[in-house]
Amino acid sequence: MQPTGDEPTGATRALLVIQRGGCMLCEPMAAPVPHVESGHSGAAWLMPFVGLASAAIGACWYSHLSHVIGFFTFSGKLAAVAAVLRMLACLPLALAVAIPVALAGLPLKVRSTLAMRLHGAMAGLAAIYFAWVFDVWLLWQETAPGTDLHQLWHVAHSPSVIWDMAAALAVSREVFDLRVAASVMWTLWSLEALLVVALCVWLAPRVVRARSFCEPCRRWLVPIDSIRLSADLIADFRVRREGLASLVHAAVAAPAAGTWFWLRRWRCPTCAASEVFRVDKVLSLSVRKAMALASSEVAKTAIPLVPLAKASQADQALLRDLERAAAVAAARDA
Ligand SMILES: [Zn+2]
Repeated sequence: MQPTGDEPTGATRALLVIQRGGCMLCEPMAAPVPHVESGHSGAAWLMPFVGLASAAIGACWYSHLSHVIGFFTFSGKLAAVAAVLRMLACLPLALAVAIPVALAGLPLKVRSTLAMRLHGAMAGLAAIYFAWVFDVWLLWQETAPGTDLHQLWHVAHSPSVIWDMAAALAVSREVFDLRVAASVMWTLWSLEALLVVALCVWLAPRVVRARSFCEPCRRWLVPIDSIRLSADLIADFRVRREGLASLVHAAVAAPAAGTWFWLRRWRCPTCAASEVFRVDKVLSLSVRKAMALASSEVAKTAIPLVPLAKASQADQALLRDLERAAAVAAARDA
């Protein structure tokens, strides 16, 4: 349900509770209005060009690596090592394909997670197909040096040639004195394909999901503020229950604090009316003392307390107060 604009929110709600003599720890308050993207796919119809280009480049690299490590010879003592290396190389292949697709979601203004997942899946499948095209072409080059780009183009248009070559390669072999059945090869290739496509589906929407969009201005919101506030168990409870209002009197977190609230804001650079915020509890672990390291190695985990929410006018006023208080505290500590 959309707010009418007359409903008390944020600091106003907290004030109302205090004015009527209530207890802020006992009386539940309305949760902030979550920010939900429109789901429009923008110019996602251009995404296949990005997916095909990144798939071709990633697959070319992947097949050349397989060729260098001798994956398809698959005999002798290093055969198992070659298989493991090719399987490990699935991760950089998926990254090489998914990252350009994920980044392209910003200029193409794709606000649909489903559209990004679909384009990620298609790019992943294209990468697998192109990898087989390059695999077959490189194997042909071994037997007939000087095999030109025309034949690469021919292989790319001939799935039956690729299938016949795969069937010829999937024969039982001797590895470490063990008989490896042809079905093991098919299983290995299926796992590779599954791994690459699954990673692409998972990674593709991550960039646009981390951003918010102003529909009237058709622009992505930009980060405007990031404040670290001190955290404890009571404050944790109150933030979950009351949202921003409970942070009014929170102190700025000490630089060495292990746990802190992370308040972040984003605003439309054109209209400045669209503003969203979120609050996470960050748990950080320094291992400098434990491992006697010269520089501090920190592991961080962010737990959402207030998920991405629209900032009402009252929330925006409260956020400005928090920003000013944090700036004063930072100047005092400097
Ligand atoms: Zn705007």
